[in-house]
Amino acid sequence: MGDEIKPTVQEKKKTQLKGLTLEELKNFFTSIGKPRFRGEQIFNWLYYHLATDFDEMSNVPKVLRNELRDLCELQTLDYVASEVSPITGTKKYVFETKDKLKIESVIIPEVERTTLCVSTQVGCPLDCTFCATALMGYKRNLTPGEIFDQYLLAARDYGKDQITNIVYMGMGEPLLNYNSTVKSLKILAEDLNKSIGPKKITVSTAGIAPKIRELADTNLKVKLAFSLHSCFEDVRSKIMPINNKYNLKQNIEAVKYYARRTGTRITFEYVMLNEINDRDEDITALIALCSELPSKINIIPFNSLKHMEPQGFAAGLETTPLYRIDEFVEKLKDKNINVRVRDTQGDDISAACGQLAIKYSE
Ligand code: SF4
Repeated sequence: MGDEIKPTVQEKKKTQLKGLTLEELKNFFTSIGKPRFRGEQIFNWLYYHLATDFDEMSNVPKVLRNELRDLCELQTLDYVASEVSPITGTKKYVFETKDKLKIESVIIPEVERTTLCVSTQVGCPLDCTFCATALMGYKRNLTPGEIFDQYLLAARDYGKDQITNIVYMGMGEPLLNYNSTVKSLKILAEDLNKSIGPKKITVSTAGIAPKIRELADTNLKVKLAFSLHSCFEDVRSKIMPINNKYNLKQNIEAVKYYARRTGTRITFEYVMLNEINDRDEDITALIALCSELPSKINIIPFNSLKHMEPQGFAAGLETTPLYRIDEFVEKLKDKNINVRVRDTQGDDISAACGQLAIKYSE
């Protein structure tokens, strides 16, 4: 065996600044014997100016910047790769965490807005049959800093002023990583950070009923998208096994509570699966549901998972043909339901809804 080089001085673990709220940053500066207003300054540099180096923090004295460099870490993610759809302009990013796990974020340009879709977990523990992320399994929750840094890196690359909306709809179930999700939302919603307000932020959930209620009580008032995909318990359980734990009835009560408590309109996500959830009784059930609460429906043509080689039930899934999706939508519109068909943005680069899964080697 060759000589092993052992470190003589134990390296002290650095404080990760990214992910700390305004109050926590102020407390951090108190703990190192500095004035609390430094917390406010650093908050602005981290979350508003999107600084990636202490030297960018021009109103912080150089001596303190050097001290902070020794004590703290600034970044949680590294840029790995990006890919732009030549058809729609959708841009997919691959980022790497410090423990070498890869995650994806997607920028979706539309006529009236440009939305950044962020991930909240590495992989996902839920097994929705129509979702590529499910096929890659689950590794771990992301920290609040890692959620925020997806925005930071995408905004620095794409242009901060270009990104108008954020959706928590990438890899993972945000409400299964509740604390990090809420903390990152709080950072985005703090008064000091005027970049993107709560009305422009949407959290999407497959249906973790108690956490939907908890999120309603935070007073964050972000928008909620509920992945409905069927109004029938048996069908929903088949395509979304989480329905066996928190069933549709519980979830609908929870989303009604959310709508009441926050004064927001719920978005129902509905992926069109041929001969599974596109029948006449599905239309009738959707009309009945939408009459019960302020809501709108996002219809999503199913994106092929062939690149992931799914097995069993998932292998047989097909999208409803486009002409039948049109009929489905028209019947809903006839009953004054607020419904739109979401573009399959980024299908060509596997960045569309339900297609996020790392194909890059780890
Ligand atoms: S659809 Fe969402 S909740 Fe379901 S497996 Fe995929 S990432 Fe997880």
